[in-house]
Amino acid sequence: MGAQFTDYPNIIRLNPNIPYKTRGNAAVALRLNIPATLFNTVQEETIEEVETNSRIGSPGTDPAIAFLKGKPPDKLRRLARKALRDIVSENEAQETITRCKITALAYGSRLGLVGALSAIGECLGNDHTFELVAYRERKNWGTRRRVEERSVMRMDRLTAPWTFNSYDFDNKRTLVTPHGPDPVLLGIRGENPYVLLKAFRMLRIREAIERWVIFRTNHGTDAHLNASPLSTRVRPFTPVVLRGVVAEKPERIRGGHVFFTLRYNESSMLCAAFEPTGRFREVVARLISGDAVTVFGGLKKREDLPLVLNLEKLQIHRLAESVSIENPICPKCKKHLKSAGKAQGFRCSRCSFRAPSAKKKLTRRYRPLQKGLYVPDRKAQRHLTKPLSRYGMEKKIRDRSSLVGKWHDP
Ligand SMILES: [Zn+2]
Repeated sequence: MGAQFTDYPNIIRLNPNIPYKTRGNAAVALRLNIPATLFNTVQEETIEEVETNSRIGSPGTDPAIAFLKGKPPDKLRRLARKALRDIVSENEAQETITRCKITALAYGSRLGLVGALSAIGECLGNDHTFELVAYRERKNWGTRRRVEERSVMRMDRLTAPWTFNSYDFDNKRTLVTPHGPDPVLLGIRGENPYVLLKAFRMLRIREAIERWVIFRTNHGTDAHLNASPLSTRVRPFTPVVLRGVVAEKPERIRGGHVFFTLRYNESSMLCAAFEPTGRFREVVARLISGDAVTVFGGLKKREDLPLVLNLEKLQIHRLAESVSIENPICPKCKKHLKSAGKAQGFRCSRCSFRAPSAKKKLTRRYRPLQKGLYVPDRKAQRHLTKPLSRYGMEKKIRDRSSLVGKWHDP
């Protein structure tokens, strides 16, 4: 009836560290070319769809919708950028609605407006990825998802790195299927729509697929960390990037979490690799005092506890030397000598051997660690975290007009 999509539907993930959010802190935007006469119809139908399909009134369900005519103004784009890396207040959202002449409505708490506005304001002009989402028939909601694990492994092997995070081979876990009672059967993430279709056909699926949609997204782009290479402000619930030096040997605590203190700019920050990050913790545990690193992550704040940086990534720039200092060895007893007193060398406590001019022996210890970038196990990576396989595959839209009508992959 004259409405035409100008882009894939967008899924925009926002600041993952916000405590009051939906589980994945995501919002969806649809971009359409429509005749002005259809504006009201589209608006009414959208509202009706949301009202019929949301559990409005149940706790934690606070949907919001926003409509904008024309291109997203700068103010709206700035709000979207802020929502990725910071906290946006209800007042800021309201002010943007008024100034940008946006039609908006919210059910329940009005915080959903931040997501709706940000989804429109984030045009994914920089790096972006795609996700094919397949949905389940209603009768299957809440039951186990019947997607054959081996076919997911095979698909991952054949299509990676053009697809990413489909299967966690270290933990033997399928990642394309969620676990909740939601209507999503699976989601495959990748670099372009064509590889997603190919990957989708490789899966052996033993239940009916109600429909599938390909979204353009900011998944796997580090969009939340890219604001500036290094953070200058450190506040709870925000993502940060800090470069500094490991202050002392990391400590393992009960529950399998690994903690260390980073010294940077005359401040210090407690950093943590939590249990779900898997083998990543072994990397962190091997750090020693003096290692030069950049830490990437979100700042957690719990009552009565210090601010903690929840590590999402770790870049090791320089490994400090690990040196052991030992007393020389007795040539007869093959045991370490004891100090014979200040500036008097060493003596053996067994055979009275003396070595007045001997020196302590310095041995450089092997460091079972290399410089480079480390990320948590796939199962623990956040939606926005750029996986290692995507480094070097980042893309930009060069020609915006290609968004109209037909999508051309760069
Ligand atoms: Zn001896």
